[in-house]
Amino acid sequence: MLSLRSNLSGQTIVESRLGSAFHLAEFIEQYPELFVITGAGISRNSGIQTYRDEVGKWKSNNPIQHSEFLNKETARRRYWARSFGGWPNVSSAKPNDAHKALVELESTGYVATLATQNVDRLHQKAGHKKVTDLHGRLDQVVCMDCGFLTSRERVQAWLWQHNPQLARMETIRTALRPDGDAEVHEEFVNQMKVPQCPRCSGLLKPNVVFYGSTVNKEIVNYLFNRLQKAKALLVIGTSLMVYSSFRFCKYASENQIPIACINQGLTRGDNLFSLKVGGDCSEVLNQLVGCLLD
Ligand SMILES: [Zn+2]
Repeated sequence: MLSLRSNLSGQTIVESRLGSAFHLAEFIEQYPELFVITGAGISRNSGIQTYRDEVGKWKSNNPIQHSEFLNKETARRRYWARSFGGWPNVSSAKPNDAHKALVELESTGYVATLATQNVDRLHQKAGHKKVTDLHGRLDQVVCMDCGFLTSRERVQAWLWQHNPQLARMETIRTALRPDGDAEVHEEFVNQMKVPQCPRCSGLLKPNVVFYGSTVNKEIVNYLFNRLQKAKALLVIGTSLMVYSSFRFCKYASENQIPIACINQGLTRGDNLFSLKVGGDCSEVLNQLVGCLLD
């Protein structure tokens, strides 16, 4: 059975999972050339955990804040200790069926633009051609003083070399988070030696947008430009709790660009969607590709 209700502008919202991919296929056939936003939910089946539960609440400690990282040595020690434990899980993660389905939808012209909140590079690993990393990429590290860019792998090797105590560290694997953090004991945080820029000894930061920081304006302008040209917006695997992605929903809604969503649980944009499918991202996208391309 389908459960129907109306949102504020009188559009019908379909909330049932039953037949959901079929409805989504109809939606996309009506509005091809999609602008897609993806979030942590799409990487869950690749073993990367999400920040929030199904009602949008934090699952563990809040992630590190930008100003904290820049201003507090202890925050940087904690970050690198946790990140040391979590990075292998992110670097070895493989794209799942949801990423692969989007590659098919890009190559067949249904997906015109893809912006992701994820920093795991799994869309690129799957072979997606045009991806905008809204919140940066975890596989790079940048110097905040001179802009020097290096790979996260090199920094991982440096951390190993300069922190022999890490060999004794057992991370709590279940506590891995989408930013590549793992929960670690305070003992390791206190002993942690943090990396510096090899060129200017400046402060090194993963090349990601931490909470409390802002997305590069050029990226935002580029995406608004792409959204204006899109026929519809498809939101996948995000509760849209961060404004950096919610603003695109708000813009679409204000400009009569229809929005569909695939997400398990509540989102901040629920009353803006023309269609919502509440299933597992991989499952729904696989069915969708089946409906559209078979
Ligand atoms: Zn530097």
